[in-house]
Amino acid sequence: MRKYVIMGVQGSGKGTQAELLCQDLDLVHISVGDIFRWHVQRHTKLGAQVRRTMNAGELVGDDMVESVVRDRLDQHDWNFGFVIDGFPRNGRQAEFFMESYDIDGVIHLELPDDEVRRRVLSRRLCPGCGMDYNLIADRPEVDGRCDICGTELITRADDTPEALAARLSDYHEKTRPVLELFGRKEVVHDVDARPSRDEVQASIRAALGLPAYAPAA
Ligand code: AMP
Repeated sequence: MRKYVIMGVQGSGKGTQAELLCQDLDLVHISVGDIFRWHVQRHTKLGAQVRRTMNAGELVGDDMVESVVRDRLDQHDWNFGFVIDGFPRNGRQAEFFMESYDIDGVIHLELPDDEVRRRVLSRRLCPGCGMDYNLIADRPEVDGRCDICGTELITRADDTPEALAARLSDYHEKTRPVLELFGRKEVVHDVDARPSRDEVQASIRAALGLPAYAPAA
């Protein structure tokens, strides 16, 4: 059983790296942001409660986040383990998490703020199938259309310069102390998020002592 946390500022590639880590290790990828986005897109009651906070780039209240995480982990569909991304994001969430679960490793993806801005503002999302694109590194074949389902790509409502500035300052203020809390248990691995996707994945696996990553041909 492997239980990993992947942390890093928005645009550092948390979601992509978590997916790659899960692929051949049979781990379940749990993204708290994706769970919230799912609810917003389907206009559920929870979606209505978090939509404005998310669009402003602010953090959702801890009680709600903890209950979403608890419900998700209580499904116990993670026989071989999980990689959780976007959580915990402050000291209280970290304490809640450490009380309930033994964590085998925390990956901290490091990216300078300038590079974060460059990456995040060029990010696009397919509202049809959820595929992520990036106009710098991962352009769609046809401008503005999803390669998989052809739906018109959108910008995430929270990928605006204003929302990004709010998230960056939140990250520096609240999320970094989480690393310090985890650090006391000596499980944090700092990984440089600037190299290519495959190189970052290789560094993550080396840090966690996992088998090497074989990129799809
Ligand atoms: P993300 O995709 O991780 O950037 O999350 C998108 C948005 O969901 C964030 O800007 C927050 O509004 C909300 N969110 C996700 N995870 C958390 C969390 N652990 N605590 C509070 N809010 C969160």
